[in-house]
Amino acid sequence: MHTAHPHVPANAIASLWDKHHTDNLNRAHLRFSDISQVVEQLAQHDAITSSVVGHACSGTPITRLTVGSGPLILLAWTQMHGDEPTATAAVLDWLHILLTQQLPSLDTNWQSLVTLHVIPMLNPDGAENRTRVNAQGIDINRDAKALQTPEGRVLWEQVQSLKPDVAFNLHDQNPYYTAGETGETATIAFLAPAFHVDKHVDAARLRAKQLIACMADAIQHWLPRHIGRYDDTYSLRSFGDNIAATGAS
Ligand SMILES: [Zn+2]
Repeated sequence: MHTAHPHVPANAIASLWDKHHTDNLNRAHLRFSDISQVVEQLAQHDAITSSVVGHACSGTPITRLTVGSGPLILLAWTQMHGDEPTATAAVLDWLHILLTQQLPSLDTNWQSLVTLHVIPMLNPDGAENRTRVNAQGIDINRDAKALQTPEGRVLWEQVQSLKPDVAFNLHDQNPYYTAGETGETATIAFLAPAFHVDKHVDAARLRAKQLIACMADAIQHWLPRHIGRYDDTYSLRSFGDNIAATGAS
């Protein structure tokens, strides 16, 4: 259980998670077979559209779940690195709670304000083998330019066709990383990726930083001193940097 959060909506969301999360997802590693039933159940919900948007090397389907039809386009994907399952559990719990519970702070018409696309587990073969890389041995997150992996091509096609306003590239990170110079573990780290080697900030990157400030503010009650700022050195071959260059936050 969490200690009470002074921000009422954040507290309500934490309480809902305590009550309604899927126990089977709350573990150290997740494979496709661990999530397929949960994804299928979500797909049955009236508000969700489910589409198979491609396949991994092994033929395992890559599914996108979509909620809402509003003008603000959000796209989130998880487990691009097969051994980084945390966000897969988080987005599936989040969608379940979002569609089955009343969130006190949320406009009742939110589904007409945003379109939310979620791709849980972009790299099911890596998840199966518990590896960072896909079945070709390629790090998908260094494949944004060459697009040698079927999984990387799926992601890039989604970005091109959906044109997200805000994109969430959800990873786990090395547990030895610290929050700044403090010596404290970075339990979570945020990055508003650069889209150019000089790392200048345009309106989209500024919005990403503002969004991060809101998220950090909401969670610092539970994670004081454990929130990191990820290295924003420009990475030519990485998806975050290339997606930022499309104008997405
Ligand atoms: Zn990663």
